[in-house]
Amino acid sequence: MIKSQKGKDMILLDGYTYVKSSNFAWTCSKTSQCRAKVKVNAAGTVVYVDNKHTHPRRKYVLTARGIKYEIVKSQRGRDMILVDGFTFSKNSGSYWMCSNKKCKAKLKLDAKANITRLDTAHNHPTKPFIRLSDGTFVRI
Ligand SMILES: [Zn+2]
Ligand SMILES: [Zn+2]
Repeated sequence: MIKSQKGKDMILLDGYTYVKSSNFAWTCSKTSQCRAKVKVNAAGTVVYVDNKHTHPRRKYVLTARGIKYEIVKSQRGRDMILVDGFTFSKNSGSYWMCSNKKCKAKLKLDAKANITRLDTAHNHPTKPFIRLSDGTFVRI
């Protein structure tokens, strides 16, 4: 589960975001014309994904190195950078550290918010992301 810039709960899945439409159903947040949806069970686990979106993925930033990321909000409302299923929290200056305190992975942003350095030596899996059968990740 992530927070939108406005503080709404969202599910991020393979670059698309979903907002809650009922207790167990989340629909694409992009446009009401898109019928893509995600269903979860009472435990919050994704049990069904319809990802037939009528539009491209949300604002991923593609840099010269081809690194895509998205700014998301942590449960506490802090900005985090999401890259390939890992989240990074702002450390000092232009460095962002892996949100897992025991992990040394980090990235660096330049003044234009492009990732200029990415150290992905994570020593842990992408939990609490759930890996779906089609290989995509969802964070609950
Ligand atoms: Zn959609
Ligand atoms: Zn890490």
